[in-house]
Amino acid sequence: PLATLKDPTLLKTDALINGEWLAGASRFAVHDPATGAKLVDVANLGPQDAQAAIAAANAAWPAWRSKTAKERSSILRQWFDLLMANQDDLGRIMTAEQGKPLPEAKGEVAYGASFVEWFAEEAKRVNGETLPQFDNNKRLLVLKQPIGVCAAITPWNFPLAMITRKVAPALAAGCTVVIKPAELTPLSALAAAELAQRAGIPAGVLNMLCADADNSIAIGKVLCESPIVRHLSFTGSTEVGRILMAQSAPTVKKMSLELGGNAPFIVFDDADIDSAVEGAFASKYRNAGQTCVCSNRFYVQSGVYDAFVKKFAAKVATAKVGNGFEDGVNQGPLIEEAALVKVQRHVDDALAKGGKVLTGGKRLKTLGSGQFFEPTVISNASADMLCATEETFGPFAPVFKFETEQEAIDAANNTEFGLASYFYSRDVGRIFRVGEALEYGMVGINVGILATEHVPFGGVKQSGLGREGSHHGMDDYVEIKYLCLGDI
Ligand code: ADP
Repeated sequence: PLATLKDPTLLKTDALINGEWLAGASRFAVHDPATGAKLVDVANLGPQDAQAAIAAANAAWPAWRSKTAKERSSILRQWFDLLMANQDDLGRIMTAEQGKPLPEAKGEVAYGASFVEWFAEEAKRVNGETLPQFDNNKRLLVLKQPIGVCAAITPWNFPLAMITRKVAPALAAGCTVVIKPAELTPLSALAAAELAQRAGIPAGVLNMLCADADNSIAIGKVLCESPIVRHLSFTGSTEVGRILMAQSAPTVKKMSLELGGNAPFIVFDDADIDSAVEGAFASKYRNAGQTCVCSNRFYVQSGVYDAFVKKFAAKVATAKVGNGFEDGVNQGPLIEEAALVKVQRHVDDALAKGGKVLTGGKRLKTLGSGQFFEPTVISNASADMLCATEETFGPFAPVFKFETEQEAIDAANNTEFGLASYFYSRDVGRIFRVGEALEYGMVGINVGILATEHVPFGGVKQSGLGREGSHHGMDDYVEIKYLCLGDI
């Protein structure tokens, strides 16, 4: 699938430290999840390389932070232009290593690039303050300064956008970065790093380490324990987030964490059912259900339950599963065997506890690598099922029935997670009540997709810390300094 790139030099397999591409002491294989075929071998760096990358980022910091905001902005703008000019190739690389359908992959390239555009603009608006003095001999100022060397550890489900969402605000603020992309999808990350080089981002300002699973853990430790690294941003599982937080405690590192979700999707009796079905489909089956904002639990009020499940299952049954490079495919493979095992475990558990399969229910062993799972809907879901409390991260929609508004809110909030939530209603009073009552960082009301670059993305409870995107997305990359001037 990578033989047809318009610009084959975007297919980088070495890591980037201080502007130099490094082959690494060993290599690890990257596979196509649709076919199981090996794509390429990639540099497998270790903890000492991580130290070198941190040193390079630290050395590059003074010159980068001394550039004017406008200078940094125009370099970032150039990076954005190059990402968009290479959207087709970047999309192909992403579909090859991650599996998502090509139109979805190209969509992610545009989404990922939009953070670079947005923060190129925001770079010029990192404004300080002057405060009223507490006596007339004094003047009081607030400065915002770049925090320093930042580290980013990113997941495989959005191989490009999770990088740009962290790196663009860091660079815009005047920080330098060390990135460790997911071992399953390093190629999109390395192509983005190549384009960053072409855009004129100076050596050492953006460093990209790639590593297999074991070395990723060792590198993670180095990044957490380094006193030079002032900030760590991580997107991934809550479990790994907790490890990184614990490892970062001795250096009191600032952290941004985007962790797991367990998104509820609530349909009230007064909802527009056709619109709810469309929203439910988009929210659940995008990226084969492998996003942290994918709906995990569907709560439908008794008056519309039968109508909703019938229409929803009919819609899901029309979804085309296959290789992401094929035309018209809605759902690609899951990322790895372990992901299939988890989905099957949730489905089997639901069936054992009284769930009824309306469509799907099993893996498609006959297709490609066999890493495909049928888009699945199960009715008669109950609170004792695993899918009620655990994030499935796959194409499985359990539908629960409820009677009252309070019952739906209580069920939705009954989780340690608090990232995205969704509900459908046409009643304005209910929209305010429920919107305020849901303990989530994000609430989609009559929509199934809500992320874009200029809104604050993030969670409450154990879904994480901080917000990415929007003007708030810059906050984690600047320190606030108070200057008190006397003897005026
Ligand atoms: P997911 O649930 O998305 O598979 P993980 O949380 O396991 O994600 O991994 C996300 C990222 O975290 C990847 O880049 C992976 O290499 C990295 N990672 C996983 N475990 C650790 C660890 N113990 N220390 C540092 N990084 C880790």
